Amino acid sequence: MMADAMSDELRRRLRALEADYLSQPVVVQRTELAEINQLRTQLGLSPVNARLEELGAPAPAPAPVVASPAPRRDHSRARAIYEAYQKKAAVLELHQAYARRVAEATAGNGPTPVYPLAKMGRDGGPLRCDLCGKPIVLEGGAYDGLPADEAWAEHPNPSGRWNSWISGGMVVEITVNGTLRIFHGYPGRNHTHCCNAVRAKEEKARKEWEASKPVPPLAELRAFLDDTFVELSPDERVTLLTKIVDVMFSFDPGFGVNVPGEAKTT
Ligand SMILES: [Zn+2]
Repeated sequence: MMADAMSDELRRRLRALEADYLSQPVVVQRTELAEINQLRTQLGLSPVNARLEELGAPAPAPAPVVASPAPRRDHSRARAIYEAYQKKAAVLELHQAYARRVAEATAGNGPTPVYPLAKMGRDGGPLRCDLCGKPIVLEGGAYDGLPADEAWAEHPNPSGRWNSWISGGMVVEITVNGTLRIFHGYPGRNHTHCCNAVRAKEEKARKEWEASKPVPPLAELRAFLDDTFVELSPDERVTLLTKIVDVMFSFDPGFGVNVPGEAKTT
């Protein structure tokens, strides 16, 4: 009775999470996906990827050790994928942390701090639009019409806070792989604004990827993780599998034109 009531409760929580998952911002989805997979494991369901597609049946429990051990499974392909995942995830994390720093530095209503606009882009230069490549232009006051970096060069203000209105608007976006995108314009139907014009380009890239998307060798990856990470719990191995599939086999729009200093060689 107790166990039934408990799994009903887990099921309710899972249904609620899955129902609104796809409408959540990416940042929230990342947190919720971990909880969704945790609940699914507890309920004996297959884990899902970042698009809530099932990753196949949960791995069967490893066979008990017997006198003559089974021949070792060949993990060469899965190990290569895992090693590539580690490298890619490390670089991605630098870009994701940078994206969060820029989003935070430019967040808020009203005038925007000029410092991040002028100095937080590639090599300490201005943030540039991911569509047209140009910096953000200030509006109003003595520096009206000047790109943020030129205004800063004329009037550097490292100690005080210098905020300015932006000419024509600006969109700061964290895209599906958690990295930064900056666009001129105001979101809406006006396709002369960079932030709206870019959508068609993004849709095309996504469609091309969908047409020939890679299929993760899940059974091989699961066997590799089971044999290699014996110290992890089954839940932790599912979480790791989800991350590997997410990083290596999900749609990846790459990096934008603005990159963190520590990752500029990549
Ligand atoms: Zn632009």
